[in-house]
Amino acid sequence: MLYVSTRGASPAVSSARAIVDGLAPDGGLYTMNPNEIPKLDWRALLDLDYASLASKILSALLPDFKEDEAKSLVEAAYRGKFSSAPHITPLKAAGDELFLELFHGPTSAFKDVALCLLPHLMKRAAEKCGNADDILILTATSGDTGKAALEGFRDVDGIRIMVFYPRDGVSAVQKAQMVTQAGKNVKVCAVEGNFDDAQSGVKAVFSAMPKGLSSANSINIGRLVPQVVYYFSAYFDAVRLGRIKVGDRLNFSVPTGNFGDILAGYLACEMGLPVGRLICASNANNVLTDFIRTGVYDRRRPFHKTLSPSMDILISSNLERLLYLMSGDSALVASLMKQLKEEGRYEVPADLLQKIQSRFAAFCCDDAETRANIAAVWRETGYLIDTHTACGRSAARAFGAENGPVVVLSTASPYKFPAAVLSAIGVPCDGDEFEMMDALEACTKVPMPENLRGLRERPVLHRDVVAPADMLAYVKEKKAEPSWA
Ligand SMILES: *Cc1c(COP(=O)(O)O)cnc(C)c1O
Repeated sequence: MLYVSTRGASPAVSSARAIVDGLAPDGGLYTMNPNEIPKLDWRALLDLDYASLASKILSALLPDFKEDEAKSLVEAAYRGKFSSAPHITPLKAAGDELFLELFHGPTSAFKDVALCLLPHLMKRAAEKCGNADDILILTATSGDTGKAALEGFRDVDGIRIMVFYPRDGVSAVQKAQMVTQAGKNVKVCAVEGNFDDAQSGVKAVFSAMPKGLSSANSINIGRLVPQVVYYFSAYFDAVRLGRIKVGDRLNFSVPTGNFGDILAGYLACEMGLPVGRLICASNANNVLTDFIRTGVYDRRRPFHKTLSPSMDILISSNLERLLYLMSGDSALVASLMKQLKEEGRYEVPADLLQKIQSRFAAFCCDDAETRANIAAVWRETGYLIDTHTACGRSAARAFGAENGPVVVLSTASPYKFPAAVLSAIGVPCDGDEFEMMDALEACTKVPMPENLRGLRERPVLHRDVVAPADMLAYVKEKKAEPSWA
């Protein structure tokens, strides 16, 4: 099985090459051919532990990795990093609702599941491609992805990681998380400007230095594949909890931004898992809700800052992969992406829309409804959810209990958004974010994740600040240093 570009104008490559390169040369995303998605005998996987299940799925989707090799990478990636171990993504029942907890990793959000594994896949993939040089990962972050990438890549041999964050554009907690980052291969640098300045600066570095750099963003197929695993594991756990019988269809409600997480659910389904409907949950930035309901993707709309900031997105990059997987037509995808770039809008043909609607449902909710869902779950079951998960829960309710059981993907710990969660459950607190975390623990007795405890007292290890125009020189200088230890 080779990986092809969604836009059809680049040669097919091995799975290892797709991981090393990230993006295809024609600007498309590396994806498998829709009729080559491997089918798994999923009933035979029911009783496997997480690492064994993950290695079966990884080696099926990334044929350059044999099963025992994949297993040793998975074990190395998650060892000592998940507070829920040995389970990586436990399924929790709250009343008659089901929440898939994806937030037990080093930064308490779901991106950890993939970003802990990606460095190990990337290093091995580079060796397979005969690339013996050190890789430097560059990332611009609006907050959470940078920290998750730092934690995933820290102390992985043969790879260094440099994260740029906007000096005035991240929260106090996010900044504290990054500037206290330990590791012998990590650098964190503030950029004088906003997120767009940091992002454009990183893009300019990539075009000026075409060799030896790589990125960790969610268009890399190596980030998508690890996410397929937890759909299988959630299904099996729902069987064990007695919520479904083997073979029943299970629905999943997914708080969605870049469409990566929910696309992994689509792949799980194509591999044979009995998935009912994939429910795409959005906040007030409801471009995907409109798209799935009408077939028109239109990014020309106001951007809203919401209580669920990781879903504040108007261009969902991984949707391109779904369009290709469902149409098999790379010329169509290339033309739609061109329209999106030039006109800010496209419309898919009616037959493609019908296919999408047969597999996906879509709902959105505003901030008031987000709060109401946090409050309702807390009041009725004593289970505390974050603002992103609340959008997923709202969508699951709108989908309707008569359509069968739904697993809501719980993408972040409530402690990552303490102000919104406190106000939702009606506890006044006017301290800073650190004090709010303490207040949340005091009033709910839900334990705070250890990675967030004592954050304010940790030593600052990174103090560099650059102007956007100096980022290239900064990268060149630091890259030339033999070691950052
Ligand atoms: C990134 C993120 C999402 C969105 O996931 P996508 O794969 O981009 O759709 C949802 N919730 C949280 C907390 C996130 O960090």
